[in-house]
Amino acid sequence: MSLLAFAKAAWVVGVAAWFLIRLPFQIKARRTRVADGRRRTAREMILLSISTFGLGVVPAIYVATGFPRGLSYPVSPLQVVAGIAVFLVALWLFWRTHKALGRQWSVTLEIRDQHRLITSGVYERVRHPMYTAFFLWALAQALLLPNLVAGLSGLVGFGILFFLRVGEEEAMMRETFGAEYDAYCARTKRVLPFIY
Ligand code: SAH
Repeated sequence: MSLLAFAKAAWVVGVAAWFLIRLPFQIKARRTRVADGRRRTAREMILLSISTFGLGVVPAIYVATGFPRGLSYPVSPLQVVAGIAVFLVALWLFWRTHKALGRQWSVTLEIRDQHRLITSGVYERVRHPMYTAFFLWALAQALLLPNLVAGLSGLVGFGILFFLRVGEEEAMMRETFGAEYDAYCARTKRVLPFIY
């Protein structure tokens, strides 16, 4: 197996593991009543599609066909090792955020019946650790896929979702939890502990 084929396979395994981690929570979420679903808008669905396109569709086409060939560059072993390491951290964090959120989790912006504000575990220092995990996935993609378009499309696609969603998500949480959420924001960062 060539190094390139190995790097592509690592990306496929990482993405499959990502979905396996999410699956039981997806099933549970379908059974949990939504108390406030006003933000399940067309805009949200477009943002989710853009993110899926960048993290899934574009790299999958590259892995399967090599397209767009002209924008590929030689793969380096160090890059592949780093990509696998980052993907492993992303998967660990993704799993911990689902464990911590439990029935409060939803793919779009929703408040569940008897929604609790989670502030401990991986939620202690940052208020969007699941988005941190997605950025790490996108970074792993950039390291594993030596192609300018397929490598960077995850960072662009998820970046668009994150920056156009995070303000609205925080406004929703503030509306629901009031002073409790303000206090939580005061002692946390968004995605990078102590930095941002
Ligand atoms: N932004 C968070 C969660 C993403 S899932 C993260 O990156 O970790 C999106 C849903 O999680 C939102 O609809 C909201 O209802 C819920 N949520 C976000 N932060 C939460 C928290 N601290 N406690 C409970 N629910 C939260």
